[in-house]
Amino acid sequence: MSTKKHTPLEDKLIGQIKKDGPISVETYMNACLGDAEYGYYMHGDPFGRGGDFTTAPEVSQMFGEAIGVWFATAWQMMGKPKKFNLIELGPGRGTLMADLLRAANVLPEFAEAIEVHMVDMSPALRQVQGKTLDGVPVHVRFHQRFEQVPAAPSLIVANEFFDALPIRQIVKGEDGWHERVVDVVDDELVLRASDDVLSMAEVPLWARAAKVGEIAELAPARNDMARQIGTFIRRNGGAGLIIDYGHALSFVGDTFQAVRKHKFVDVLHRPGESDLTSHVDFEELALAFKDGGVDVHGPRTQQAFLLAMGLQERLDMLKKKAPARARIMLGKQADRLVSEKQMGHLFKAIAITDPSLGVPHPFGPAG
Ligand code: SAH
Repeated sequence: MSTKKHTPLEDKLIGQIKKDGPISVETYMNACLGDAEYGYYMHGDPFGRGGDFTTAPEVSQMFGEAIGVWFATAWQMMGKPKKFNLIELGPGRGTLMADLLRAANVLPEFAEAIEVHMVDMSPALRQVQGKTLDGVPVHVRFHQRFEQVPAAPSLIVANEFFDALPIRQIVKGEDGWHERVVDVVDDELVLRASDDVLSMAEVPLWARAAKVGEIAELAPARNDMARQIGTFIRRNGGAGLIIDYGHALSFVGDTFQAVRKHKFVDVLHRPGESDLTSHVDFEELALAFKDGGVDVHGPRTQQAFLLAMGLQERLDMLKKKAPARARIMLGKQADRLVSEKQMGHLFKAIAITDPSLGVPHPFGPAG
């Protein structure tokens, strides 16, 4: 018996695994993030300096403003509908939407057409979002699930949303591929390969040349979500912008990670108290969107996207109005968003469009 104090979710999972057998990485991730009682996103507010991690909208208002500029153009490409859904998936604190709406005001006709839909599984975060958006001059509705958003032409944004959706991991063994599972040894959670051999139909082509011991990641929940969004946009018209960290092409490797108080920790460390994510495979994600019937553009790096949306010009303008100390701060924030060493290259953007829309800037060949 270990003397280490477990989290309540850890005890719950240990009990469950002892009774019913090991659980897949996907089931583990699902429980850690979304368990109704103890899931990571279900209680507090994990963002910012006092929290566990900082996202781009929390770094600078320039991020949400740049996205607002992109959406204003997409709305024009849609033929300027008089009413449309502006949907955000997994909006966290609601900061991106607040910044985006402020930028939208420069085009009053665009701003007046907006009806905001915030989709978040976390009741605690929906409350935070309500506070952040209190007083905005547009109608805002909150939903737990995407299916609850009414049918209408739509613009959709998702920043660091897809990385939070649970993944499966499969491990190559001498005798074939195995599901990676969480089991219990001496009252502690451990990761191991399941004894059962998976059917080759479950192993994507790009993974088949892997060496023994290597891990490949599959994201059925992510793909289902992308297919559903693709179908929705195809049916109702519109576009979407997906920004996340990840790779442009599928590859073999383990990107499952846990972050707590701004540090990487083991994925089994304090279940329910650390943020679990994985890198987004943009190649697979694009295929799932296309399956839903939309065109996919990109990826572009976050750096290329933000600079094309006028980040440098916006920075110069904000600096002009700011006192000297704030100017240095603004420069650092912009740098964090676009420099290669920070978020600039690891983070990528793809656009999805209803096929009648054409290719939005900066996703064209010259973008
Ligand atoms: N976009 C925000 C927050 C990113 S964190 C930002 O950039 O700051 C991930 C967000 O997705 C959280 O708000 C979390 O509650 C939400 N989320 C995670 N899984 C979800 C799911 N399956 N359905 C809806 N929302 C989800």
